[in-house]
Amino acid sequence: MIQPCLGINADGRLTVAGRDAVSLAEKYGTPAYFIDEETVRRNCRIYKSALAKYAPSGSFPLYAGKALCCASIYRIVAEEGLGADVVSPGEIATAVKAGFPMERAYFHGNSKTDADIRYAIEVGVGTFVVDNFDELEALDRIAGELGVRQRILLRLSPGIDPQTHRKIITGSVDSKFGVAIETGQAIKFAQLALAKKNLQLDGLHCHIGSQIFEPDPFVDAAEIMVAFAKECVDTLGWAPQVLNLGGGFAVRYIDDHPHIDIEANVKAVCEAVTSSCAETGLPVPRILLEPGRSIVANAGVTLYTVGSVKHITGYKSYVSVDGGMTDNPRYALYSSPYTIIVANRAAEPADFECTVAGRCCESGDLLAEGIKIQRCERGDILAVCCTGAYNYSMASNYNRIPRPPIIVLSPNGDYVAVERETNSDIVKLDNVR
Ligand SMILES: *Cc1c(COP(=O)(O)O)cnc(C)c1O
Repeated sequence: MIQPCLGINADGRLTVAGRDAVSLAEKYGTPAYFIDEETVRRNCRIYKSALAKYAPSGSFPLYAGKALCCASIYRIVAEEGLGADVVSPGEIATAVKAGFPMERAYFHGNSKTDADIRYAIEVGVGTFVVDNFDELEALDRIAGELGVRQRILLRLSPGIDPQTHRKIITGSVDSKFGVAIETGQAIKFAQLALAKKNLQLDGLHCHIGSQIFEPDPFVDAAEIMVAFAKECVDTLGWAPQVLNLGGGFAVRYIDDHPHIDIEANVKAVCEAVTSSCAETGLPVPRILLEPGRSIVANAGVTLYTVGSVKHITGYKSYVSVDGGMTDNPRYALYSSPYTIIVANRAAEPADFECTVAGRCCESGDLLAEGIKIQRCERGDILAVCCTGAYNYSMASNYNRIPRPPIIVLSPNGDYVAVERETNSDIVKLDNVR
């Protein structure tokens, strides 16, 4: 099974966290997202213990909430001792609602408004990851007005292309995020930050991409960041105490994807930082990582009901479901592959080649093309696997389709973590006159 929380029971049906998927679909309706709490916790612990083992004390993972943002998930990751990477006032408000310890929150983003900055300071966000010179000025001014000395990291662009593992001067330096090291602007950024009296510069941040299978690009990034830290020591007399190397570790979505050893990847990154520091004579900074996808993706399954199975003579077959790009836009956006199982026929052979389509008025509204699943018919329950990350958080109301609920499957029972949207939610903000 592609996810550890999946199985097949004696009735030949798919199970999710030990529950019969068909019964879950009956109990909660479809489409619906199901999240296995134990998998989320296990993923958190892998990162936490690997950093405890291979990085200096005070190193810890932050959960990148954009992967799946709701109060229940923040509660779980807070209990596991992670910090949070937040990128908007909405994500911050969600963490606040969960009672998240906001001193462990890191506020990202390349276009924070004055109102965003003020709100984040007022609710006690511990650290801002300052993206650019304009933000640095605005944050110093607003922190001064509010009478706080705000902790910050600086977002830098190390110029790594994760596809090639190599530094690419144009391309990755040409990014909307962060200040480039290559161009000499990053050192000016650090110099300016150190001179701000309402800001306390703790360290540096970079994030090189997402769904990266190999540790090599992270190792390259770590080496470039340590070399820059050395430049800071030599020219500014300042050594970063924190090195935040972002998120981006891949998830196995289909059998063809390689198995991923998160602990080994974390170890490789920490060793790169440690050995580069040893070579340059720098003290090893605390290391932060920001996994999003690899904390929640393989904890999630989406259940749908089949609405029609259409065989186009001489062409192909379409299986249409009661959701689609509105709850999972990833195939439409990136042609992302998924594993799909007919939950009520999970023990039957997967020999029916088909394209799985959503219900939107849009031919690009697909969940998979040319995949093999069990033969199915209207009324069957379809499970799309590994949908914990970037599904709910990227969902839309296109065609005025309500968003599905999130059900957390916990060892002590299931609960609705986010309610299903209704048509009255859909029209709630409309005015007519
Ligand atoms: C998206 C993002 C992450 C999380 O990336 P994953 O690929 O989901 O692990 C972490 N940090 C930053 C700054 C990001 O933009």
